[in-house]
Amino acid sequence: MDFRSELVGSFSTGSNDNPTVEIIEAAFRHHNMNYRYINCEVLPKDLKAAVDGARAMGWVGFNCSIPHKVEVIQHLDGLGESAAVIGAVNCAVLREGKFIGENTDGKGFLASLQTAIDPKDKEVVIFGAGGAARAVAVEVALAGACCITIVNRDEKRGKELADLLNEKTKTKTEFVQWSQTFQIPPSTHVVVNATSMGMHPNVTQKLDFSVDTLLSHMVVADVVVNPPQTVLIKDATAKGCKVLNGFGMIVNQGVLSVKYWTGKDVSPDVMRERLLELL
Ligand code: NDP
Repeated sequence: MDFRSELVGSFSTGSNDNPTVEIIEAAFRHHNMNYRYINCEVLPKDLKAAVDGARAMGWVGFNCSIPHKVEVIQHLDGLGESAAVIGAVNCAVLREGKFIGENTDGKGFLASLQTAIDPKDKEVVIFGAGGAARAVAVEVALAGACCITIVNRDEKRGKELADLLNEKTKTKTEFVQWSQTFQIPPSTHVVVNATSMGMHPNVTQKLDFSVDTLLSHMVVADVVVNPPQTVLIKDATAKGCKVLNGFGMIVNQGVLSVKYWTGKDVSPDVMRERLLELL
């Protein structure tokens, strides 16, 4: 008998709405793994104490969500490659006694995207320049996209992301300030909503772009998890596009996080089923 479980979990402010605990615990149960995932409400002022607490209790890793993804870096012992480029961590992993920051947001998105299209040499439009957009854009660029257009309301954030991609990756990136209705260029292969628009409770919120410029050859992906059927996903489906909702991204990043923490490959289907039951 072993009466002690290995511990992992999540630190965020506003943790009540985060379903990750349910999908990861579903995988632990399914695979009979002696691990527990604890969803913790951690205020910014308590982040260092939370990381120290995780160390003291021998946690093997933890997720970080809003608003800790950047601030947590100063409390870690090192960064993985894409987390260093992205400048944000959503998954800390204990390696040889050190907490190393990784970013599974973008990798989870990429795994989902690759079920529909290989982004290599493709033209990609990304709405947003926040944490999710940075992670998505860096991974899509590292996967060989030929060009990316970042469309964002805030000029400073949008430019910063475009500059980052132009400096650190081979992908040609331009920034378009989102001050008027955006027209998607017909040569675009992939369209991504990486903003929080359309997320519960703002479920009727529409991205300001011309729906007529969505063409059936485009793959349209939304990072929003709740609801899975955003206005964008509905519009793109009606236009005959291949669509990917936010489930693929969250499920795949869960799979990756568990792999980092435990070394085991868990079933994405078990996680997806649990998410479907919940949302
Ligand atoms: P941030 O707060 O870092 O960024 C929000 C982005 O949305 C910014 O680009 C912001 O633009 C834009 N935005 C918000 N409201 C508006 C608006 N009214 N008009 C135009 N732009 C707007 O959030 P995150 O990047 O962390 O999260 C974004 C979404 O991604 C959330 O819905 C989150 O739940 C989801 N997510 C999903 C994951 C998954 O696994 N599926 C993983 C991580 C996140 P501006 O810069 O101009 O303010």
